[in-house]
Amino acid sequence: MKKIDRYAKPCITIALFVLSGSLAFSQKKAGDDKALKADLYKAKKDAIEFLSDSTTVRKFGKMADSIWHFAETGLQEFRSSAILIRALQQEGFTIEKNVAGMPTCFVASWGSGKPVIGILGEFDALPKLSQKALTPYQDPLITGASGHGCGHNMMGTAGTAAAIAVKRSMVANNLSGTIKFFGSPAEEILIGKAYMVREGIFRDVDAIIDNHSSSEMQTGYGVSGNAVISVLFSFKGKTAHAAAAPWSGRSALDAVELMDVATNFLREHLYNTHRMHYVITDGGAAPNIVPERATVWYYLRETDERLEEMYKRVIDCAKGAALATGTTLDTIKVISGIHQKHSNRGMAEAIQRNIELIGMPEWSESENAFAKALQKTIGAEEKGYNVKVSPLKEPSAVQTGGASTDVGDVSLIAPTATLNFPGAPTGVIGHHWSTVTSGYGSAAWKGLNAGAKVIACTALDLLTKSKVLEAIKAEFAEYSKDHPFRSFLPGGTKPPLDLNRYLIEN
Ligand SMILES: [Zn+2]
Repeated sequence: MKKIDRYAKPCITIALFVLSGSLAFSQKKAGDDKALKADLYKAKKDAIEFLSDSTTVRKFGKMADSIWHFAETGLQEFRSSAILIRALQQEGFTIEKNVAGMPTCFVASWGSGKPVIGILGEFDALPKLSQKALTPYQDPLITGASGHGCGHNMMGTAGTAAAIAVKRSMVANNLSGTIKFFGSPAEEILIGKAYMVREGIFRDVDAIIDNHSSSEMQTGYGVSGNAVISVLFSFKGKTAHAAAAPWSGRSALDAVELMDVATNFLREHLYNTHRMHYVITDGGAAPNIVPERATVWYYLRETDERLEEMYKRVIDCAKGAALATGTTLDTIKVISGIHQKHSNRGMAEAIQRNIELIGMPEWSESENAFAKALQKTIGAEEKGYNVKVSPLKEPSAVQTGGASTDVGDVSLIAPTATLNFPGAPTGVIGHHWSTVTSGYGSAAWKGLNAGAKVIACTALDLLTKSKVLEAIKAEFAEYSKDHPFRSFLPGGTKPPLDLNRYLIEN
């Protein structure tokens, strides 16, 4: 699909002269497409112009770099959320803090009445992924510290920049409706949005635009990823001297190990859509003391339909292990439970139109040189950054499992789709130092800026084109008949505010 030629036709030349003021952040020149040009109406031009201004680019770029440096893990993102809140507050957004029982969760709203358009934004890091910026080989900034291995430093920032651009355009063009930014903590541990949804904070939202950093500029629709139950199994045994009187002890670690053996045998009889992985978070203090307590943390992943059946069978493995070892299954603590992502087609099509309108950033020679050096180190094809936007991704015919996102729960509450923006070179690996090193500096600024433009333009379409929004809502209402939402969180489950604190300290 062609993109607009930003420099060719007089009808858009004036606005685009301003846009191209900062050459480093201009988008690619492209072909001529009447439909896209007609879609570049004033409210969208205003948002693009604001986001293209060199002061704006720098402000949000620096913000993403700061969050990169903070590298705060899930539910500990105090400085990261504060920096986004401050930017939104300065623009007159009303801020609700400490949402859904999570101190780093917030909702920023501007405007009033319908429609209500939501933008999601994450900002948490991953443990032990510290890495120096723009360094094409593994070299931790602080050994053992956390790092932004999934680009979330750019994502919360892109969503915030977009929300502010939309608000400014609403003011300039006298548009009615409400724009909301959902500051969503702890996505990496699949927690934040499950609790936000359960709290009902998306109840009045008509449509939601999610975003994620990627090497592509892309969106899609249909069911993707896996649902998850994240759960800790803790066993209690009886301690004893492991050499002098082992017969009087009952090892809780034995129970954990036997449970793991049982679940590994269970795999043979599960659907190939499943994923199951665990870490032992507490396996005792020393070999010469029979462990009185032991805990194993499981991620159980399956389709929405099969997840709970698999979970029951894993509980049976735990019970069997306790019986065999003479220990007790002390607690089963569910940390989170989330659904597969069900992306709305109308939303994805609305995002896709704006992907084609905005196009890819123009990468500099030095950015591509860094990308190629990094690609060489990690064994990826040495082709630098992507230069073309991707076509609309359709649902895959065969669902074969995979990773998960807590956006899943949101997608069953309101029409939702995700924009992937180009925050990394091609071939870079997620949850890996190669993502950390490339998510900083000029190329990251360009990627998140292009993402913010697509999000802002999509939000403005949804605010101003009532027929488009009505069609999206009708599709969602029809789909919801067969996919009513029911939280996977057991009643009374609370966000584990001390989870990362516990993991870091231990
Ligand atoms: Zn992520």
